Amino acid sequence: MSFFSHPDFDDHEGVYLFSDPQTQMRCVIAIHNTKLGPGGGGTRFWSYETDADALTDALRLSRAMSYKNAMAGLQLGGGKAVLLRPETDFDRRALFESYGRAVEKVGGRYITAEDVGVSPEDMQVIKSQTDYVAGLEAGKDASGDPSPVTARGVFYGMQTAISERLNQNDFKGLTVAVQGLGHVGYSLCRHLYEAGAKLIVADINRAVLKQAEDEFNAKIVAPDAIHSQEADIFSPCALGGVISDQTVEGIKAVIIAGAANNQLATPEMGEVLRLRNILYCPDYVINAGGIINVAAEVRGDYDPSWVESKVLGIKDTLKEIFARSEADGGNMAEIADRMARERLS
Ligand code: NAD
Repeated sequence: MSFFSHPDFDDHEGVYLFSDPQTQMRCVIAIHNTKLGPGGGGTRFWSYETDADALTDALRLSRAMSYKNAMAGLQLGGGKAVLLRPETDFDRRALFESYGRAVEKVGGRYITAEDVGVSPEDMQVIKSQTDYVAGLEAGKDASGDPSPVTARGVFYGMQTAISERLNQNDFKGLTVAVQGLGHVGYSLCRHLYEAGAKLIVADINRAVLKQAEDEFNAKIVAPDAIHSQEADIFSPCALGGVISDQTVEGIKAVIIAGAANNQLATPEMGEVLRLRNILYCPDYVINAGGIINVAAEVRGDYDPSWVESKVLGIKDTLKEIFARSEADGGNMAEIADRMARERLS
């Protein structure tokens, strides 16, 4: 396995491997950049086909956290951990305790939070072994579920986007197609409905669709048809990679603004969207509400007004990206990456 020549190695400051045969705990903790503060980012608990895949994920995701935290104006660097899911039966509590000890050994250069596969209960177990953990749902100074904050940030970002692209200051008469009515998507729908938008929605969970139909008068469409609806805004709030060679030509919306991570299947999609005159709000900029909420816990004495001011800051960051694109013709995704690198250098 190559390391320093690995395609996703980006001069990461540190990459730690920990293992504990007794509990079957094996993890990679990658710290990309700590210029702005300790590396902050979640722990992903996942089954990887190979060790190399786990390393790749940790390298890629930790760099993404550096960019996201920098663009959100947080005093957090970029870090991420992947905890490998054992192939045989395991004691979950013992495994997460062991993982908490691994985080402790990194000595505060990495602060962990929840990510795919990790539950609020697992977070409490990690907390029993280390203080370098945030995004807890219970306990003193816990910041709670970040999803409503993420949804609010996406809504604010959409306000900026409709002003920019449609010269409109409210959602009256606008239609938004929302893909995924989970923790973030459903909360976003409520903001949009209250603001007067018409909603088209898709999910694979029928119960939540029915709820959105009853509560928001939303029109339901099939999951594979949501991106191509006649809508002003397409809002991916489910999966990554939804803007791809297969979908991009079908998109009729003039704005893309959603919570999902890694919406562009390939970097080239950013340019395809620009050429199609579709205003893309870079995913890690517009979905930063959750990490902002977690950062408030890291600061201590959770302060909702600080969170709100940072979440509102998403609007200013988007305005700057749009202005730079207007000035130099670059696409939104590459401009966001460039701005993030400037803040980190
Ligand atoms: P979630 O798991 O609560 O919701 C995802 C929803 O998408 C579910 O309702 C699921 O049924 C639906 N879904 C799955 N496959 C689908 C498909 N093919 N078509 C339509 N719907 C489908 O997740 P969430 O917390 O709401 O997060 C949504 C996205 O936003 C994820 O990509 C997540 O990584 C990202 N994100 C979330 C937060 C947060 O604070 N929760 C923060 C930043 C980014």
